[in-house]
Amino acid sequence: MSWNNLIDGRAIAERIHAETAQRIAALETRGLKPGLAFVRVGEDPASKVYVGMKERLCARLGIASVMHVLPETTTQAELLALIEKLNADPQLHGILVQAPLPRHIRAATVFSTVRPEKDVDGFHPINVGKLMLGDASGFAPCTPAGVHELLIRSQVAIQGAEVVVLGRSNIVGKPMIALLLQKAPHANATVTLCHSQTRDLATHCRRADILIAALGVAEFVKADMVKPGGVVIDVGVNRVNDPDAKGGYRLVGDVDFARVQPVAGRITPNPGGVGPMTLALLMRNTVRAAEMAAGQRA
Ligand code: NAP
Repeated sequence: MSWNNLIDGRAIAERIHAETAQRIAALETRGLKPGLAFVRVGEDPASKVYVGMKERLCARLGIASVMHVLPETTTQAELLALIEKLNADPQLHGILVQAPLPRHIRAATVFSTVRPEKDVDGFHPINVGKLMLGDASGFAPCTPAGVHELLIRSQVAIQGAEVVVLGRSNIVGKPMIALLLQKAPHANATVTLCHSQTRDLATHCRRADILIAALGVAEFVKADMVKPGGVVIDVGVNRVNDPDAKGGYRLVGDVDFARVQPVAGRITPNPGGVGPMTLALLMRNTVRAAEMAAGQRA
């Protein structure tokens, strides 16, 4: 049986790209071009893929990007010195330091060294604080902001909804609830954040009008954990061994898609749901940073 309840992240991301491209064209008429610096430390294969995708998208939309690849042995001081150089470069409006970083480097120190106005990933404590305060002048992290945009553009009712988020990371789960609980349009949700110490997690899930899975456990969310007719958003990207697949593995989400889709009212495919939105929000944040630098937007 085929179902027509998909939330098409690719299509929505394309619409955001079209809006972003218009803003880039408007900047160009003033002789300005948004610039984004990528910093990758080490040779993590997934990071290489992610940064490569982001670079190609910059090229497609007309954002100038520069790539800095540093060896795994780079010291924290060396990395911070590079970030300070990028902070001072007026051609660069955004700086993205790709996680994960090697263990000897403290990610929190790195993220707080990026100037908040160039922190298009939204990880600087000032941007984290603004998000919590409901101050839209900061940058929200791209993945939860992408999920929020996906809900809004799919006309999902957020106001008053019971939202359950699985996973409390600083890059997905925590900012996700901060976005949805604000006393603001497209928010006003009642939020529950579950994690590995949550009791009766499935019971929480079953009352969710909107269930957002971001825990990094392959196909964790089963059909009997989903409220019939509820909206299910799958953030997870997990490798599972598959001898028949190219490379010996395939990627699956945190939701058992085949079994959950018939129960859910709406659901994101994976791939093709949250992933493209993360990229779209990164591009949009970068253009906004360029506009802010040009004194055009708050
Ligand atoms: P993370 O930092 O590893 O955090 C995982 C969270 O899930 C933690 O809060 C952990 O609880 C919780 N958790 C893990 N296993 C659990 C279980 N069995 N029951 C309940 N809670 C559990 O992960 P992340 O960086 O937020 O990423 C989450 C997933 O999203 C990953 O698959 C990642 O690849 C994916 N992701 C996708 C995108 C995208 O653009 N599509 C972007 C970012 C991340 P504790 O805090 O108690 O340990």
